[in-house]
Amino acid sequence: MTDTEPSVFTKIVAREIPATIVAEDDRVIAFEDIAPKAPVHVLVVPKTQAYANVGELASADPELLAHVVATARRIADERAGGQFRLVFNTGEAAGQTVFHVHAHVLAGELQEGTLA
Ligand code: 5GP
Repeated sequence: MTDTEPSVFTKIVAREIPATIVAEDDRVIAFEDIAPKAPVHVLVVPKTQAYANVGELASADPELLAHVVATARRIADERAGGQFRLVFNTGEAAGQTVFHVHAHVLAGELQEGTLA
């Protein structure tokens, strides 16, 4: 992915790809994962695609990372009584497939053998 190629998540922000959006503000968007691995599986994504992974985001904009986490908690409060897993796959070997940082909010029983 380059800066000139919009990621799949940027296309969701732009409404070029449909998604079930559950929260949105000026900095983040949250929507249901297209291939859910648990009864609640929502992705929380900064609108900017400037950061490929959580390490880059933490270094460059810790306040935005905190906002991602706060949004995840609010969604989990609404949908899962505040009991949830927060997963940031980082790197191909760790299962990352979309290199536009995103948090997986997972609640309920996970599909066997996966953390998203
Ligand atoms: P990763 O593997 O990078 O940690 O997570 C990427 C996630 O994005 C996967 O769980 C995958 O199902 C989800 N995903 C990929 N493309 C789309 C899409 O077009 N729409 C939605 N809603 N989720 C997507």
